[in-house]
Amino acid sequence: MSAASPGTEPATSVSIDGGSEACEASASGGKRVLLAKPRGYCAGVDRAVITVEKVLEMYGPPVYVRKEIVHNRHVVDTLRERGVIFVEETSEVPEGGLVVFSAHGVSPAVHAEAEQRNLRTIDATCPLVTKVHKEVNRFARDDYDIMLIGHEGHEEVEGTAGEAPDRVQLVDTEDDIEKVQVRDPSKVVWLSQTTLSVDETMERVDQLRKRFPEISDPPSDDICYATSNRQVAVKAMAAECDLVIVVGSGNSSNSKRLVEVALQAGARDAHLVDYAREVDETWLDGVETVGVTSGASVPDVLVMELLEWLAERGWEDVQEVTTANEKISFALPRELRSGSGRSSVR
Ligand code: SF4
Repeated sequence: MSAASPGTEPATSVSIDGGSEACEASASGGKRVLLAKPRGYCAGVDRAVITVEKVLEMYGPPVYVRKEIVHNRHVVDTLRERGVIFVEETSEVPEGGLVVFSAHGVSPAVHAEAEQRNLRTIDATCPLVTKVHKEVNRFARDDYDIMLIGHEGHEEVEGTAGEAPDRVQLVDTEDDIEKVQVRDPSKVVWLSQTTLSVDETMERVDQLRKRFPEISDPPSDDICYATSNRQVAVKAMAAECDLVIVVGSGNSSNSKRLVEVALQAGARDAHLVDYAREVDETWLDGVETVGVTSGASVPDVLVMELLEWLAERGWEDVQEVTTANEKISFALPRELRSGSGRSSVR
């Protein structure tokens, strides 16, 4: 996996507001917060949320969205209050209705079902997920067996695998590697979900390569720039942290990975919370340095609320740890391209 993702300017050094280095002890030896950057909204999430807001603006409620538009409780609850109806399947949308597909992508079968039911569809699939769908199609056309590294049951994996269900086999745990069957060991390729742990994925690839020495790599990284950048940032500060708090929802793959990466990189403790009010005060016992970051589907207002909550308890000194500056943005779906804007759920 490349260290500097496309559209990302790598920060040449760890920069921290206040002029100290991340790896030095706090000058006062007291309470401090290390705040990871990049954190929070990625370009794909921003695009998906703006898409729903623009559809609401243009067509008025109710607007149907298949699955959670992005995996964040606050975003989903806010949009629901504005008139969005979240459904699990397109069969729940009234005939002829308007439905938005979420950032995680859908399989061709879902598109076909929507067409059959005369639904008007707007596809908010992140372009970086679409890229993986295209890779699946290309390798399936070339008659490869495709090992898709990802989490069983995750919507993105279901959508990606659905592009070529006869050719794709899911590799979630190490045990899965023994179970997969291929027709020709020289025509096997691995692809992955976009929101995995970079390190764990490479472990899985090494395990796959032991079984299939000729396995091909994807043409480019499938783990997206936002996922890998957030992991790099949390790694840069984790060893200094007595506690890392990741703001994100329990069904957000990239947010959960940040907790794991923080612990693997040396944080003494790490937890995932949707809101500041969910922080258990006992986690702060004996803690001086708190690391804070957030998943790619998390509006920064939730991080600011956590910083306020920490400041009220004495953690007022906030130092930002910058490992990259992201410049990526994606055009809205074609149907919505008149005008642009930033999501107001931020
Ligand atoms: S986490 Fe990555 S793949 Fe997922 S929406 Fe964001 S940019 Fe796209």
